[in-house]
Formats: sequence, structure tokens, C-alpha cells
Amino acid sequence: MVDFTGIKIAVDFDGTIVEHAYPDIGKEKLFAFQTLKQLNKMGASLILWTFRSGVELDNAVEFCRKNGIEFYAVNKNYPEEIIDDSVSRKIDADIYIDDKNIGGFPGWSEVWQILNPFELQEKEAERRISSMRKNIFKRLFTRKTKTDENGLS
Ligand SMILES: [Mg+2]
Repeated sequence: MVDFTGIKIAVDFDGTIVEHAYPDIGKEKLFAFQTLKQLNKMGASLILWTFRSGVELDNAVEFCRKNGIEFYAVNKNYPEEIIDDSVSRKIDADIYIDDKNIGGFPGWSEVWQILNPFELQEKEAERRISSMRKNIFKRLFTRKTKTDENGLS
């Protein structure tokens, strides 16, 4: 399992965690919370990085909380940060998950695979091993059948 301790992941809300429905809250995008919860478990600090503010922002934070996601910070680098003109508005996350990425939003299962490349390799290895195993059984079975045929003749 990849260790994401100390890694800040900035996540957009509208169009990324949920379908676009601003100022309302859209339907959850497939696997959004499942993926975020897993990244959280793996040590990542999740930052909600959205253009929402005021009540609409509160609603988004509450919606995520109800779905099991408590953000490390919201529109900030860290919880205690006070934003004024002396602070750059750009946060310094390590990874950004946003539907405005060049190429668009790939979907949460793709996000997961990009962040967990070893898991993909493991899956591929498992697939190969299991297909080898099938081949072994097939060979054994075929051989046995031939022996039976030989026994009959
Ligand atoms: Mg968006």
C-alpha cells in the first residue's frame, strides 16, 4: 500500500466530488467518497479546494462530513492559516484533483489507479498467475483424459 503521510491532496468539489449543480449539491460522482476515504486512511491530508464560499461552502463541507470525509483544511494550506493579501491564494498541495484539469476529469477509479500504480501491477501479476493456473489445470485435465483413453484402448 502506498504511504501518503505528509502528502497534501487538494480536491475540487463541483464537477469532481459531485456532479455540477452549483449552488445546489449534485449527486456524488462514482467512487468519490470511497476513494477519498481510502486516501485519508493511507495518510493523505485532504484539502477542499473550491470556489465556493459562505453558506454554499458550508453546505459542501457538511455534505462531505455526512459522507465520512473531514477535510484537513478548506481553501487553505493548513487549518490555522489566515488568508490576507500577504499570502498567495494558490495553495501548495502536492496533488490536485479537479475536473478542470487539462484533459478533463478521468473519473475516480482512474484517479485511484494513477495514485496506486503498484496495485495495478499486482492485479496484472495476479491475472497472469491465475491464467497460468488455469492452463496448468487444463493441461492436467487433458493429460488425464488422454490417459483414460489410452486405458480404454
Ligand atoms: Mg470543478
